[in-house]
Amino acid sequence: MDAARPRTAASASRRRRALLITTGLSLAAGLLLWGTDPGAFRTLPPAYWIMAALAVVADARPHPLPGHRVSRVILPSICFTFAIVLAWGFAPALTVQLIAVTVAGVRMRHSVLRSVHLALQHIAGLGAAALVAELANWRIALRPDLRDAALTCAAAAAWIAARYAVAAVARRCTSERRTRPRRRARADLLGTAALLSLAPLLLLAAQISPALLPMSLLAVHAVQRMVRWAGESERAGRVDALTGLPNRRALQATMSERGPDRQRALLLLDLDRFRTVNDALGHGAGDRLLARVADRLAAAVPRHDLVVRLGGDEFAVLATRVEGAASARRIAEHLTEALSLPFPMDGTPVEVTASIGIALQSGRRDGATLLREAESAMYEAKQRGDQVAVHGPDAPHASPDRLALLADLRAALRRDPADDGIVLYYQPQIAIATGEVVGVEALLRWKHPKRGLVGPEELLRVAEPTPVMRLLTARVLDEVVAQLAAWRTAETPLRAAVNVSARDLHAGDVADRVARLLREHEVPSDLLQLEITESALMADPHRVLDTITRLDRMGVAISLDDFGTGYSSLQHLRRLPLSEVKIDRSFVLGMAEDRGDAAIVRSVIGLADSLGLRAVAEGVEDEVTWRLLAAAGCHAAQGWFHARPMPAAELAEWLGRYRPVRPGVLRGPWIPAK
Ligand code: C2E
Ligand code: CA
Ligand code: CA
Repeated sequence: MDAARPRTAASASRRRRALLITTGLSLAAGLLLWGTDPGAFRTLPPAYWIMAALAVVADARPHPLPGHRVSRVILPSICFTFAIVLAWGFAPALTVQLIAVTVAGVRMRHSVLRSVHLALQHIAGLGAAALVAELANWRIALRPDLRDAALTCAAAAAWIAARYAVAAVARRCTSERRTRPRRRARADLLGTAALLSLAPLLLLAAQISPALLPMSLLAVHAVQRMVRWAGESERAGRVDALTGLPNRRALQATMSERGPDRQRALLLLDLDRFRTVNDALGHGAGDRLLARVADRLAAAVPRHDLVVRLGGDEFAVLATRVEGAASARRIAEHLTEALSLPFPMDGTPVEVTASIGIALQSGRRDGATLLREAESAMYEAKQRGDQVAVHGPDAPHASPDRLALLADLRAALRRDPADDGIVLYYQPQIAIATGEVVGVEALLRWKHPKRGLVGPEELLRVAEPTPVMRLLTARVLDEVVAQLAAWRTAETPLRAAVNVSARDLHAGDVADRVARLLREHEVPSDLLQLEITESALMADPHRVLDTITRLDRMGVAISLDDFGTGYSSLQHLRRLPLSEVKIDRSFVLGMAEDRGDAAIVRSVIGLADSLGLRAVAEGVEDEVTWRLLAAAGCHAAQGWFHARPMPAAELAEWLGRYRPVRPGVLRGPWIPAK
């Protein structure tokens, strides 16, 4: 992605500046040398000038590994400048080298600093070689003997040592960490040595005829190719071919090179049910999907973090600058959010979710341990049906019992709805003024094969924090809308309210599903109502508002459930597209005895009334409460006083028996005393 980023005007001007300054520097250095020893240049033979020209030409070719760190740059010119230093001394060699470095720096788009750094390394190399010659009081002979060969080797070794010593010092000064694997370092060393060893051969060729010298460019080219291949194969070994992301080896290398860093977290992502994509759309589409997932993940993390594909449908993010589990969880949320929009594949939108395991660096834990811990956290998340789990002591403990229940529920939801054991009970809501049934609330039950009837509270405790919740809500909506259609066909149309949880409202798909179901079953939208709780609103007000606004526009009424138990309720009443407030049963149950509860209920009814909302009291268990509610002007009542929640078939019977009763004038001892 970075490579594709357009080069800006700023970087163009930086390059121009680099060119000018480096050229200026080299010219100055050349002139300086010329000034100190003009005789040295005047006596130089044609072979020198040919080699000088070849050095510049060799470095003017496109460099095989542009953009790499300075210590990785191998300039082909070094074989010529090394020959020059052996035959004609330091000053003539340095002049040529500086010009060649300038040319190479421009070709590689190096900054001034990098060019100067590269120049310094080569000055050091040539200086060390010259020093060896000076100390041995030696210039290479026309016909080299064994001593010449030995001294050439010594000079080459000095060249290499000096150059990489400068590189190491620079690395220390810039506190840049060593990231070069050994294998690549060997290839670099071999390339450098091969080029330097060409020097005596060049000098020999020059003895025969300087015209032979240009042929050496072929050998130089071959060495360059060798170094490039080594670099490419090294790169290929660290890159995932399908996605272009770094691979597992790159991750391991980065983790070991950088050493333990306390502010580091490893997030391991495993896509959920990826196999179904492969099965449904084919492996080609699966591969394309993986590549696009990779793009989204890479775009979602800051540049200093590493995104890798570990293989299959497993990815990892090595995040730096992480302070604690909460901050790592935020990154995980960010990643799941990046995947939350469906991926259109050949016109089919494909939903991708991931389970994420987080391991935090603490103490001197190595990369392999971190990876293992992230992996175990990821499996824990998958098992629990959670999206994210953190490894370590602060990981929320899941009891085996809850895990088993969740696993059973997951399995049930995969079965045919006819025999998954999930049933809906319906509890009537009665208009207080007329005594008529105005609707029902759909309440979830699960007939577990071994445990018997499991209530919604227990079920939701395990399902709510997991992606299973959305499946469950989908299942409930399917059944309730089908039931609404059945009631309509039977000419007893009823309105039904469905409870939705926070997780359902964070994605827009619940609105899509509702729209589709109403259309398919030809059910008018005013027959469906959704109950949301304030805690659902609090989790992510913006996204929830989006979803409920869409539902409201469709004509699906929204009811605020459990009113009075959450926070900042009054704000919500004013801002949200609500039609109804349900007064929590904890207030209603006690209102016959408790003055405070009665006062709260009355004021909620008053508040709802003045905002133009219906007030529905739930948990109405007796006549006293019912009459009190009537006196307070409550619109509807729901509770055991009228009926308990029951299956649809029983409800039909109950409706047949039901006779509306209107509360008379309120009088008597049941009015709570002051
Ligand atoms: P809720 O939305 O507040 O539902 C009302 C609960 O009060 C129901 O419990 C109902 O059986 C109970 N109830 C009704 N009348 C009376 C009464 O007179 N006295 C007393 N003490 N209780 C009464 P239930 O069915 O066990 O549901 C519990 C909660 O589970 C619900 O509370 C709702 O938050 C949640 N729930 C139920 N079904 C679903 C569902 O399909 N989806 C979601 N997301 N949540 C559901
Ligand atoms: Ca409810
Ligand atoms: Ca409620």
